[in-house]
Amino acid sequence: MEERKLTIIGGGPAGCSAAIYAVRSNVETLLITEDFGGQLMLTDHISNYLGFKKESGFSISEKFEEHVKDYDIEIMMEKAEQVEKKDGQFLIRTTGEDILSETIIIAVGTKAKKLDAKGEKEFLNNGVGYCALCDGPLYRDKDVAVIGGGYSGTEAAIYLSNIANKVYLINAGDELTGEPITVDKIPEQDNIEVINKALTKEFFGEEMLKGLRYEERETGEIKEINVDGAMIEIGREPRSEIINFVDKTDEGKIKSDNYCRTSVEGFYAAGDVSTIEEEQAIVAASDGCKAALQAVRYLKENNKND
Ligand SMILES: Cc1cc2nc3c(=O)[nH]c(=O)nc-3n(C[C@H](O)[C@H](O)[C@H](O)COP(=O)(O)OP(=O)(O)OC[C@H]3O[C@@H](n4cnc5c(N)ncnc54)[C@H](O)[C@@H]3O)c2cc1C
Repeated sequence: MEERKLTIIGGGPAGCSAAIYAVRSNVETLLITEDFGGQLMLTDHISNYLGFKKESGFSISEKFEEHVKDYDIEIMMEKAEQVEKKDGQFLIRTTGEDILSETIIIAVGTKAKKLDAKGEKEFLNNGVGYCALCDGPLYRDKDVAVIGGGYSGTEAAIYLSNIANKVYLINAGDELTGEPITVDKIPEQDNIEVINKALTKEFFGEEMLKGLRYEERETGEIKEINVDGAMIEIGREPRSEIINFVDKTDEGKIKSDNYCRTSVEGFYAAGDVSTIEEEQAIVAASDGCKAALQAVRYLKENNKND
């Protein structure tokens, strides 16, 4: 089996940053990832990452990839399916070859939460989706719904309002809770209708989605709207299911301290999958730096980087 000193899993801001810091510390570095950029590829544009006044998520992801590839970092474009402890090291089972690594930085981020409403699975990719940016162009001049009134829901509604005929923003809470600068833009868009205190219960249609039913939270009344598309944007959950030997929170975040150390020596967690306070790209990148420098120190102190 292939053996490595340091393996980073995840090519988002945390993983890319970790890879650059690790290789610049003269540690042979393997990066296993399914893509470059991670969640940044799901966003229309980034305006709060230092040095980028307004950059598309796709473009910033390309720059991350270019930066990583500028170094002698070994890259495996595979999915890590399971990570296990083995003889004082870590065994990573991937869709390609398996790897035994002395230390690991896990930076696998988060994935979209499911709503678990009736018809959600049935109409997935036939009107129901979890990525407004990816699916938005399918709904040019059509009517769509965004489910979720937080950060991603409000951003998705603004994005879709420039493509679709009409956007229903369906929010379970009393009011929208996204980034204030985004929430403030919602009333300026004539074609966005906000429906607060509404619990989405069911998606319906024939082959393709035709609409959805929601329950008015206060009255219990069921209402129906006709839409061609519905984007579920109700938050995200950690992609930590591939690791079972480390302490996690109830929601699955990997418990980590300010140095990105976890409950297991030699195993570091960086970015959104860890218990960092803010799920932001710049915070994840900073975490990647900290995790890499800690892992390098660990390898040196344990004479594992000879
Ligand atoms: C719609 C949206 C808009 C956003 N807007 C902003 C914004 O404007 N500004 C901002 O700062 N932040 C924004 N964020 C948040 C930001 O994108 C995240 O905080 C950041 O990307 C987290 O970085 P990460 O590296 O921890 O994880 P991720 O970006 O999630 O990257 C995880 C990486 O791990 C890989 N991966 C996952 N599982 C595996 C596996 N099993 N095997 C191999 N590879 C795997 C993925 O392919 C990906 O490359 C937004 C997020 C969303 C969803």
